[in-house]
Formats: sequence, structure tokens, C-alpha cells
Amino acid sequence: MSPYEKKHNESVSDDVVWHHSTVTHADRVQLKQQKPVVLWFTGLSGSGKSTIANAVESKLLSLGKHSYLLDGDNVRHGLNKDLGFSDEDRVENIRRIGEVAKLFVDSGAIVLTAFISPFISDRQQARALVEKGEFLEVFIDTPLAICEQRDPKGLYKKARAGEIKHFTGIDSAYEAPEQPEIHVHTDNLSVDECAEFVVARLEAMGYLTAEERKFQEDNSHAL
Ligand code: ADP
Repeated sequence: MSPYEKKHNESVSDDVVWHHSTVTHADRVQLKQQKPVVLWFTGLSGSGKSTIANAVESKLLSLGKHSYLLDGDNVRHGLNKDLGFSDEDRVENIRRIGEVAKLFVDSGAIVLTAFISPFISDRQQARALVEKGEFLEVFIDTPLAICEQRDPKGLYKKARAGEIKHFTGIDSAYEAPEQPEIHVHTDNLSVDECAEFVVARLEAMGYLTAEERKFQEDNSHAL
């Protein structure tokens, strides 16, 4: 029984059973030659999750790594377009993303998710879906004042004007990670420096090797 099968124990009815696949998780990992993992970016709106996750994904590409970025706004256009921003819908939003991330990890990919995901319990639930070591919390730690100053989508302005309710950091809580595996302090760093920090931490934790990093440095000009 694969670890994914084991963790997928809540089926809708007794008639819905897990179908064994001939090609296993181990086969896919072997083919891709990488450690599959979820890099779960969390932080306030405008903290830089999408921007840094994008830059990290580019670096992973230059290392020959297979990755996929699940981005907040994009997912809300499709998979989660039926969901709003009530507490209930936010929980369901993160639950579905966790399930999708799990499928990508099962496929052998490195998944990057960029969602505010403000609640500790929701992030814990996403972590619990995959095996130990397959989930790294990446805290994009940017002070609220800076996020509000950047306001890339004009959302803080609207929230302050009362046009958006339950906006994280304004009138809805953001529960910061207590022990994130990767803690990025973005103030005083460029986007590239932030991404470089994440990749260096991945190397330090054994998700990438020094040889692969050397390859990236040698080839970065080509991308
Ligand atoms: P989020 O996905 O967290 O809502 P975005 O990535 O959409 O945030 O927006 C962050 C904005 O801040 C972008 O416009 C980005 O260019 C800008 N920015 C400035 N400095 C940084 C930095 N050091 N790291 C990340 N983003 C930064």
C-alpha cells in the first residue's frame, strides 16, 4: 500500500475504493531524480509569496527539477471558482489545494503553493496529507506596513475603505507560523535574494545537492 493510499482513508462511500496503479510513487521519483516536496508559501497579501515562489520555480527549472506552482488567484479562477472568502470557504479553499498538492507530490513533483493560508490549523491539515519531510512551510515574513505600502493589487486601500470585509491583516487574523522550515525576512532583500535564500535552505536541508547548485550557477546565464 502506498503512503498516499494509506493517507486517503476517508472515502465518500464504501463503494468508492482506491485503485492501485501499476506505476508507483517510487517509480516516478526514480524517473525524476528529485525529492518531491510541497513548498507551502504563507504570508500576508502583498508579502511577496507569488513573486518569490515564481523566482524559486525558475531556479528549480534551471536545476532541471520538475515543479508546479499553484497560485492563489489562478486557482480561484478554476478549481475553486465556486468559493468566496467566508471562513468556511477559506477553509475549503485550502483543503482542496492541500489535496491537489498531495497529488502533485505523488507524481514526483516539487509543488509550490502561494496562498495567504492565514490559519495554523489549515496549514497543519495540508501538512498532514503528505509524508513527513514532504511539506516545508515557507513563511514570507513582510511587515504589514510594507505590504500595505506595496499594495500591488490595491486591496489594502479597498479594505481600509471598508469595500472588502474580512481582509487578512486588517479585519481578519493572520496566524504566523511558529516554526516554519524556511523563514524569509523580505525587507531589505531583493526578490532574487529572497529566492536564493529559499534555494540555499533547500540545499542545506538535503532537498537539493551542492552539485546541482553548481550546475545552476554555470547555466543560469542560459535561461
Ligand atoms: P502575494 O502573492 O504575497 O500577495 P505578490 O507577490 O503578488 O504578493 O506581490 C508582492 C509585491 O511586492 C510585488 O509587486 C513585488 O514585486 C514586490 N516586492 C518588492 N520587494 C519584494 C521582495 N523583496 N520580495 C517579494 N516581493 C517584493
